[in-house]
Amino acid sequence: ETIVADYERHIGRAAARLAGQTGQPVEVRSEGALVWDEEGRPHLDCGGYGVFILGHRHPAVLDAVRRQLDRHPLATRSLLSGELAEAAQRLAAATPAGLERVYFACTGAEAVEAALKLARAGGRRRVIAMANGFHGKTLGALSVTDRLAFQTPFRPLLPDITTVPFGDAEALREALAHDGRKACVILEPVQGEGGVRIPPPGYLREVADACGEAGAMLILDEVQSGLGRLGTWWGCDAEGVRPDLLLAGKGLGGGCLPVSAVVATEAAFAPLDRNPRLHSSTFSGYPLGMAAVTATLETIEREDIPARAQLLGKRLYEHVIEASHAAGPELVREVRGRGLLIGVELSHPRVAGRFMHELLARRVIAAHSLGTDTVVRFTPPATLSETEVDWFANAVGEAMARLGD
Ligand code: PMP
Repeated sequence: ETIVADYERHIGRAAARLAGQTGQPVEVRSEGALVWDEEGRPHLDCGGYGVFILGHRHPAVLDAVRRQLDRHPLATRSLLSGELAEAAQRLAAATPAGLERVYFACTGAEAVEAALKLARAGGRRRVIAMANGFHGKTLGALSVTDRLAFQTPFRPLLPDITTVPFGDAEALREALAHDGRKACVILEPVQGEGGVRIPPPGYLREVADACGEAGAMLILDEVQSGLGRLGTWWGCDAEGVRPDLLLAGKGLGGGCLPVSAVVATEAAFAPLDRNPRLHSSTFSGYPLGMAAVTATLETIEREDIPARAQLLGKRLYEHVIEASHAAGPELVREVRGRGLLIGVELSHPRVAGRFMHELLARRVIAAHSLGTDTVVRFTPPATLSETEVDWFANAVGEAMARLGD
């Protein structure tokens, strides 16, 4: 009760109302795919907005962070940092060949800001973004986040932004027909917040070709899709595409710390190569976060997370499809998924709310899509046990069966 009161007074009335109404438990502890509430009840975390691909408090990440915490968590930034150098080297090695330069930040939106600034400093003032795209809520990132409700109160946003339909390579070609050399294109390989939208096969390849032919810069936002979540290291790996700038975030700090990054070709990074002060931030490349990044990348490799995400994703997808038959097509419009990014499109925001509520009653945490009120998303860790898979399947089945009540 005091927590809800403190929310009301200091966090916000709407947030408190939401928490109070849904009877949300208070989360106090976590490990693996589980989050415990105050009363000691475990919840299966299939939400977390895609951060926990390794689960919570993965021992390898925790160990690296603990050691770094005892040694040197934050840098003076006036001297060199071995942790930064190592994390950058490892991240470059984990991304498609030709992506060499790295700029670290803390949040996804910051990575987007850095990418948009790099494009501009390189003479590209036009931005082509995607319908239903989501890239964050800082002013620059918001300008390419296609949701009116988030944008309207903050206009005017960045100028020279064109929005084209996601999945339509021809529309992109048309938009690039004039002044392509002065443009950058930003998109997600699979749209997450937009409601788990999967483009037709070959689309990403066509996008990369269109950008190449027009001389446009390609920015792939892999903040949600990267690090194995889609069943490949990066979403762009599925089609052998290498962007000019690749953005990572969310799980990059191993579910322990906030870290994001821009990984760039030498050409795309040129403005920062010439003048590193053009874009910088106090906590960029902080040693504690860098220790987490190095341990995370090692763990993804060692535990073969992309392959596990693919296998587990297929199984969970099948369970959701099976459960959706019980609810029927009037309530469950579609189930879409790739790897461990699975979205359920419900007939109405109210039904989506009900679904989340019924899942929570079975102690399964899912997430809304920030861009679409009718899509509920599952982004579980790749480390689920057999018991946890059963838990998921039963909860989704029961929750779906109650949607029509
Ligand atoms: N890009 C994508 C693809 C995202 O899904 C998100 C977060 N949902 C962001 C950027 C913004 O990240 P953050 O909330 O850490 O700023």
